[in-house]
Amino acid sequence: MNEKRYILALDQGTTSSRSIIFDHDGSMKGIAQMEFPQIYPTPGWVEHDPKEIWRTQFETAKQALENAEIAPSQIAAIGITNQRETTILWDKNTGEPVCNAIVWQCRRTADAAAKLAEDPQISRMITEKTGLKPDAYFSATKIQWIFDNIPGVRQRAEKGEILFGTVDCYLLWQLTGVHATDVTNASRTLLFNIHRMDWDEELLKLFDIPRSVLPEVKPSIGHFGNTKVELFGCTIPVTGIAGDQHAALFGQACFSAGDAKNTYGTGCFLMMNTGDRPVTSKNGLVTTVAWSRGDKVTYALEGSVFIGGAVLQWLRDELKIITSAPEADIIAATETNGGVYFVPAFTGLGAPYWDMYARGTITGLTRGTTRANIIRAALESIAFQTNDLLTAMQEDTGTPFSILKVDGGASRSDVILQLQSDLLGITVDRPVNTETTAQGAAFMAGLGVGLWKDESEISAIRRSAKTFTPAMNEMSRSEMIRGWKHAVGQTLYR
Ligand code: ADP
Repeated sequence: MNEKRYILALDQGTTSSRSIIFDHDGSMKGIAQMEFPQIYPTPGWVEHDPKEIWRTQFETAKQALENAEIAPSQIAAIGITNQRETTILWDKNTGEPVCNAIVWQCRRTADAAAKLAEDPQISRMITEKTGLKPDAYFSATKIQWIFDNIPGVRQRAEKGEILFGTVDCYLLWQLTGVHATDVTNASRTLLFNIHRMDWDEELLKLFDIPRSVLPEVKPSIGHFGNTKVELFGCTIPVTGIAGDQHAALFGQACFSAGDAKNTYGTGCFLMMNTGDRPVTSKNGLVTTVAWSRGDKVTYALEGSVFIGGAVLQWLRDELKIITSAPEADIIAATETNGGVYFVPAFTGLGAPYWDMYARGTITGLTRGTTRANIIRAALESIAFQTNDLLTAMQEDTGTPFSILKVDGGASRSDVILQLQSDLLGITVDRPVNTETTAQGAAFMAGLGVGLWKDESEISAIRRSAKTFTPAMNEMSRSEMIRGWKHAVGQTLYR
């Protein structure tokens, strides 16, 4: 029996760093989590201290080992998954960051991105090469901002003294001294050509970024480097890296084209495997690299719902008609919507509507409308929005999807998942282990080190806790979709 039978997954999120140890059966053996400060220098700006990211990540790794009573020498490999797009530049010799990390949510470069988006030729070129839209989310305008605003950084970069990395890359560098990233993280920078699978000279020129700052791009599964001995008292190989949504898709074992996962959190994050084909969306979804192993690249389509579980937080905190999200679920379980539709377009509507000026509405109110009807309608809005997104994805790919695998806090709701299955007409599957992001990173690292042989072995590890199959008749289904579309129409500003 192999002594080294555990994988350490480092899950570096937007608000906390977590470390989880998995064994060969895919079970969690130890977990530790630490929050770190969110820095808001001015409205709309969001920063993290890179040193805090590293400190909390390393601390949780040590704590998780301790909690699991597992020695570092028993860890076969480390996998990393991370908040995407967040940008760090640091000194190659001292390791000192040149400024705080600019977080994906930060809007400081919104004007710069909007300018690019206004030029149809540039915008098209960016989308063709990267699968993305020019937007402040992605790393390129953030790197550009640092070069333009932090004195001396450009000169130092030209002398080869500065390194750029997304969070995975920064952690890998701290762990191993290797300056590399994986294809999924590279694909979120606006600098990476997802067809040629390399940094793109034309884009580097457009954003005026010297190639010398960029990390080497490696497949998500494979050897990235070995940890420095002083960290764990032994060396451990890092053999898997992927951005959080990509890792979740992998953790859900969505290995075939047509497999999709939805994370029902505060917002919803949907990703669908499109196989070896990058699909260009006509509905405003982004094309991304799902992962790669050796020469084999798997692509995905991605979209998000801005207000998912957050609608329940609003009912709880503002309307005060529920005391908790689970209570909403209990109330809604024995109710219908009574003809009420709730579109939580609090911050506009994303794909497939794309109306940033849309605002929320509740339609169908009568004298007989009850609190329970409104609560049910709020829960249903999460499934309706996901249905709109998945339907758009299906249109884009032209292939029917097979299954929707789910995770995230609001995936605890049977009400949402049953309606989801009814609307989509496919099976919805909730796994036993909903820590799919960390699990995906662990699966990748395990494959990279040979702990697991292939994807079929991993599919066998992922266990379903509950599946939901379509049970609604077609008449009710089309009536509900009509009611929802009518309500959406009321919210659009255009
Ligand atoms: P995030 O990672 O985005 O912070 P989580 O995955 O922790 O979010 O999910 C939190 C969301 O899940 C909240 O918006 C909450 O309203 C929702 N939620 C939690 N439990 C339930 C439940 N039983 N039914 C429906 N929604 C729930």
